Amino acid sequence: MRKSIATVSLSGTLIEKLEAIAAAGFDGVEIFENDLLFYNGPVRDVRRYAADLGLSIDLFQPFRDFEGVSDEQHKRNLARAERKFDLMGELGAPLMLVCSNVGTDVSDDDARAAAQLYELAEHAARHQLKIGYEALSWGTRVRTFDHAWRIVETANHPHLGLILDSFHTLALPDDWSSLAGLPGQRIFFVQLADAPRLGMTPLTLSRHFRSFPGQGDFDVPGFLRAVLATGYAGTISLEIFSDETRSALPRLTAEDAFRSLRFLEEQVRSEPARQGNTSGMMRRRVELFDPPPPPVIRGIRFVEFAVDQRNEEPFAVLLGQLGFRRLGRHRSKEVSLFGQGDIRIVVNREPDSFAESYFLMHGPSVCALALETNDALAALGRAEAYGVARFDGRIGPNELAIPAIRSDAGSLIYFSDHEIAANFETDFEVEPEAASRSPLLTRIDHIAEALPDGRLDSTVLFYRAVLGLEPEASVVLADPYGLVHSKAVSNCERTLRMPLNISESRNTVTARSVSNYAGAGVHHIALATDDILAAADTLKMRGAEILRIPVNYYDDIQARFGLDDKRLDALRDANILYDRDGDGEFLHFYTMPFQDRFYFEIVQRLGGYDSYGAPNAPVRMAALAATRMSARDLAEL
Ligand code: MG
Ligand code: MG
Repeated sequence: MRKSIATVSLSGTLIEKLEAIAAAGFDGVEIFENDLLFYNGPVRDVRRYAADLGLSIDLFQPFRDFEGVSDEQHKRNLARAERKFDLMGELGAPLMLVCSNVGTDVSDDDARAAAQLYELAEHAARHQLKIGYEALSWGTRVRTFDHAWRIVETANHPHLGLILDSFHTLALPDDWSSLAGLPGQRIFFVQLADAPRLGMTPLTLSRHFRSFPGQGDFDVPGFLRAVLATGYAGTISLEIFSDETRSALPRLTAEDAFRSLRFLEEQVRSEPARQGNTSGMMRRRVELFDPPPPPVIRGIRFVEFAVDQRNEEPFAVLLGQLGFRRLGRHRSKEVSLFGQGDIRIVVNREPDSFAESYFLMHGPSVCALALETNDALAALGRAEAYGVARFDGRIGPNELAIPAIRSDAGSLIYFSDHEIAANFETDFEVEPEAASRSPLLTRIDHIAEALPDGRLDSTVLFYRAVLGLEPEASVVLADPYGLVHSKAVSNCERTLRMPLNISESRNTVTARSVSNYAGAGVHHIALATDDILAAADTLKMRGAEILRIPVNYYDDIQARFGLDDKRLDALRDANILYDRDGDGEFLHFYTMPFQDRFYFEIVQRLGGYDSYGAPNAPVRMAALAATRMSARDLAEL
């Protein structure tokens, strides 16, 4: 379908916005009046610049508080409209969005509103322009598309049509099944937005929390399916106002926006209809995005760390304390493979490689994840269809080429499959019997990432659209220095789990992690064990530094969960945290951060516990902050 976006959806100047919108692949834009007011130059230049970028100007908006007014006010409104029609002529915008009146003195006589809109359409027709009437969900009289449609139908002017906006329809609890029965040729434009269900008024939700389709909780695919059932074959356009996008770079927002529309089209094409006139689907006249299907992701094949010569040995020592053995060295590169159980860790200090450039930017850190999929090349093809750049690394003679993409955060995601996995270890000189011992840790449980401000929704969309992962519920965690928002994405078998964290304050552990990393990055890697007390004992014996948990914490969990004294003592001695959900239990402890970059978490899940110990996050973050404080105190002594 033709794709457009309202300039209000992006941050930046009008020119920056147009450039970002064109670069992302959009066909057109809706120009918001404020963007013109702030533009310091002739309006004709905007028209020419958009044309040079290959963008059509589809719509001019908003024109407010027009219909259902007194005759006197109506005259003034028409005069006001005439000035905007002149402006639209210069801009080359064919359609004006008139939103339903939110004034205090609005007539409830639909015939009056219809007559006034008819007259406006007459004026517009003289300029060869059209009027689209949109119901705002907080309009004084007109709040729903069917009410707006009744007025448009009554006015019955060829230059007057309806504008639909998924936000206004889906923000209200009303049944919207009649939408699919509208005549498609009378719908002049369709705007799309999603939002989380936060239990606030549509107005507040709209001003601060609108998001791109696929980022919120609204049934935007169902809405678009109903729109297509009307026979509508025009443009779909995004109109977002959000606190997140206001602080994000326009280029990134535009890329997310475009990806969200493609993902929406894919969902509309593949999901069964839930609401609306399904038989009307036969009338669909548009092409919908059709990428290779989402990969089946079975889990994490390996985690790759970038280190330098100075960090390599201390990191190998830490891995040894965690029970990893060096399985082998790469045949031609400065790369080692470590493993135990199903966990494989690649440590890369190859000069002049991606790992090195990542290290220079971020310090010792996770530079890549390899995902186990059913078909690595299909996964790569899908990612590319969603506008993600593929990564081609330097390959030595007889080395395996693993399909890879660059994640939103700049690290790599490799796609491995049966064939690639079978060949993977042949790149390494594997030491005989290296993997034969019974493992202390068995598999990767989850990998937590810290994200820069304003990037949570877009990162979730990336994982949903590109990798087919599903988002879990959002949680808010309290750090001693501010709030951290967390949302995990996972595959359905839960063999890939990635909690994503974002901080509102600059001083939280999450925010420090983001600024230390110069961007987003993995801040902890959680590894599963079948016996956490034994794991804690062994780590201690091997000299691993464990994050110390304040003793008061244990009084609290005894009060909350009534654990017996013996068990509680064992947990306290080992600095193990505890959570329970129904019959499920979660036990976990942390190593001290490595070079202030990342740390390991050791976890044991019992009885089907399915979460991440969120109630313990505050004590973990406070304990981390305390060690940082004492390190600073020591440094100052
Ligand atoms: Mg709208
Ligand atoms: Mg964790």
